[in-house]
Amino acid sequence: MSMLQEKQLTDLTVGDVMISSEKVAHVQVNNPLEHALLVLVKSGYSAIPVLDSSYKLLGTIAKTNILNQILGLERFEFERLSDIIVEEVLNEDIPCLTKSDSLLKGLHSVINHPFVCVADEEGYFDGILTRRAILKQVKKDIYSKK
Ligand code: AMP
Repeated sequence: MSMLQEKQLTDLTVGDVMISSEKVAHVQVNNPLEHALLVLVKSGYSAIPVLDSSYKLLGTIAKTNILNQILGLERFEFERLSDIIVEEVLNEDIPCLTKSDSLLKGLHSVINHPFVCVADEEGYFDGILTRRAILKQVKKDIYSKK
């Protein structure tokens, strides 16, 4: 039996169910918006984490942030994508979890966000906790009690 199957839902930690950093698409803070939009469109995600060059978490960036930034009076000014960097647009006001937080704490934080970033005490990025990962565990728990 795997560790995840043995543990009760209430015993699981964020670290048990998060997507680890090497599998998470991200952008760096000094990337131009053109690169960020490319990563977002190609990955199909609506938002992704923003890291600095030492892999510390700084915030997130979403397609809507980018489109809002380049929205002119009459049209989207796509030529501005290469002049603006991620730092000027990122959301810094985001919730953050640590790997040792309980999954129930994670459950609270994904109520208002499709995913929440996970970082260590020094701010180094560890991964993300998604609604999908939480729902899978909740479903498993419900079916195991039937
Ligand atoms: P999901 O719960 O799988 O639908 O994911 C919710 C959101 O989490 C997505 O829209 C993305 O913003 C983010 N996300 C999920 N998986 C990844 C990943 N591997 N890399 C970057 N962002 C992700």
